[in-house]
Amino acid sequence: MAATLIKGSEISKQIKEEIKNEVAKLKEKYNLNPGLATILVGEDEASKVYVGAKEKACKELGIYSERIDLPANTTEADILTLIDKLNKESKIHGILIQLPLPKHINETNVLNAVDPKKDVDGFHPVNVGKMVLGEPAFLPCTPHGILELLKKSNVETGGAEVVVVGRSNIVGKPIANMLLQKKKGGNATVTICHTGTKDLASHTRRADILIVAVGKPKTVTADMVKEGVVVIDVGANRLETGLVGDVDFEAVKEKARAITPVPGGVGPMTITMLMYNTVQAAKTQAGIA
Ligand code: NAP
Repeated sequence: MAATLIKGSEISKQIKEEIKNEVAKLKEKYNLNPGLATILVGEDEASKVYVGAKEKACKELGIYSERIDLPANTTEADILTLIDKLNKESKIHGILIQLPLPKHINETNVLNAVDPKKDVDGFHPVNVGKMVLGEPAFLPCTPHGILELLKKSNVETGGAEVVVVGRSNIVGKPIANMLLQKKKGGNATVTICHTGTKDLASHTRRADILIVAVGKPKTVTADMVKEGVVVIDVGANRLETGLVGDVDFEAVKEKARAITPVPGGVGPMTITMLMYNTVQAAKTQAGIA
């Protein structure tokens, strides 16, 4: 039987509606207008599209947005000065630095300069540390979106064998950590695979929930999954034929219980969770629980 589609495009619409209502209430009740600053350095076309989509989402939900486009030859010192200014700017509650940055800029220095209270991407070591410890923190947007997809699709994670393929700092490592937390929506037994993994299929075949964040089409094929698996395909690979994930969707959907399509699966959730984090940042900074 073909799998149920986990449609991030639809789930994100519901969450956005909730955020929009909350923003309206914050404005009315507390005169609080959540604000997000996005910093784009250079001319990377994909980054321009992502930043444009973030601005559009802010507008749609009533969130104040400030977009700062800088030339590719901007110095690291100038970016750090700008971040310092935004850290102190009261109408900005969240700061997003669009990655990748040009090669001459040290990404770690820049990300670490963001005030952890305004780190809506959840990349600052303080937030990463809190997330690992299971303390309240800004959760990075893509893995946070995956948790929401699982929750809204009623996929039980407690006791499940979760296999994550990919160990990046923005997807693989955080989603693995979130799913092993001892709480509802976590409590899974998690395996992380990467290029050093021997016999990838022997791991993926054990998965009740398989999360793939690799960046290579057809990394996971039908013979690598068991019947009834839930598959979350994070991959976003731009081919001449269009956008495809990391999973051989057509074949794997015949064995899976549920699967995210690409596009329309994980992708739309990422920006939505950024909006969510921005509203949470505004509330925390204003002392609203
Ligand atoms: P990344 O930083 O390039 O990491 C890829 C990971 O996959 C690495 O850990 C790598 O292992 C592992 N890997 C590569 N080939 C493998 C193989 N054959 N077998 C097992 N593991 C393998 O990528 P990322 O930033 O996590 O992104 C992954 C994909 O998700 C990309 O397509 C990206 O565009 C997409 N993405 C989508 C969203 C969204 O919002 N939809 C957000 C973020 C990323 P090593 O560590 O050993 O090198």
